[in-house]
Amino acid sequence: MSVKISMLNQDLVDFVRSIYKTDSFIPLHEPRFIGNEKKYLNECIDSTFVSSVGKFVDIFEDGIAKYTGAKYAIATGSGTSALHISLLIEGVENGHEVITQPLTFVATCNAIRYCGAQPIFVDVDIDTMGMSPIALENFLKKNTTVKKQQCVNKLTGKIIKACIPMHTFGNPCRVKEIKAICDKYHVSLIEDAAESLGSIYKDKHMSTYGVMGVMSFNGNKIITSGGGGCIVTDDEILAKKAKHLTTTAKVPHKWAFNHDQVGYNYRMPNINAALLVAQMEQLDFFLEKKHVLFNLYQDFFKSSKYNLVKEIVGAKSNHWLNALVLDDLEKRNSFLEATNKAGIMTRPIWTLMSKLPMFIDCQKGDLKNAEWLEDRVVNIPSSVVI
Ligand SMILES: *Cc1c(COP(=O)(O)O)cnc(C)c1O
Repeated sequence: MSVKISMLNQDLVDFVRSIYKTDSFIPLHEPRFIGNEKKYLNECIDSTFVSSVGKFVDIFEDGIAKYTGAKYAIATGSGTSALHISLLIEGVENGHEVITQPLTFVATCNAIRYCGAQPIFVDVDIDTMGMSPIALENFLKKNTTVKKQQCVNKLTGKIIKACIPMHTFGNPCRVKEIKAICDKYHVSLIEDAAESLGSIYKDKHMSTYGVMGVMSFNGNKIITSGGGGCIVTDDEILAKKAKHLTTTAKVPHKWAFNHDQVGYNYRMPNINAALLVAQMEQLDFFLEKKHVLFNLYQDFFKSSKYNLVKEIVGAKSNHWLNALVLDDLEKRNSFLEATNKAGIMTRPIWTLMSKLPMFIDCQKGDLKNAEWLEDRVVNIPSSVVI
């Protein structure tokens, strides 16, 4: 059965093809290796230090800390492991609860579960697609009491230990306002900044509002180490704990193997860090190109009825993935059919976490904005154009 491409969808297909200058398949997001990647990888192989020891991990950690303005950064094997460790060292344990948003990638909620904790879902704002401070405050006001500097859920009697907002597609959420609410209710703020390296809200980098922030360098992110992540923090004790726990909790010694707790093998191998250091050198270039692409899309969509997602006042997005809000579910589905059939990769935003079988029984607030966005938001090709 052939899918009829509406005029508007055909215009978009032609426009995307004119940007990427190709008649073949156009992916949603592909990495660009146009700097020192091969040089550093070769250096890494020649040195034989491809694994858990080597200079590129240190160079990267210093680089990302300087870039974001944080005091410390700890490289990890993935964004998911960075989330897991940040929750553990903030004291999230079996029986605790952690507030997050239903509109996120599954890793956010998986990491909460790895600690034996339960996610609670509060709604997002329509404009940022990230956690709504109003929804958060309403939930906490209605459902919790603060006892001995701990936030207790009146329904379950459990402690709500942390809150993880996420900056969707690099678009900053109202994290400064969220931080003020978390402080008031004695809930630790941990930012899932997996998608938002280079994004800024009210003069601070994403990942630096929380007690810790987490990033991902998976192959589809704005810069990549193949697979990797990091934890960013200003707290020296947490930084030390993170390093310790991600490196099998080994007590430093010339030769002895001593470990003082159950640790994790969550470190970033030096060979991945070699790739990442080269990518980091190009971050400003990528950000500039992403901004140019966003502006091209903005001009294109100005004269159409498509609604391109823009950052809110006070926020600067890294424009990792461009997103459109379509009229309804039916329009969204025909858009996805038509564009993918024409060889332009597009995809819907995630199914809400609150609907997945593992999280369906979790407590939640009113999720009407998240549900509305779930039916309407799609991503369009956003690779850096060179
Ligand atoms: C990519 C991503 C992660 C997980 O990162 P990995 O490196 O793939 O483990 C976590 N949260 C969000 C929102 C992400 O987009």
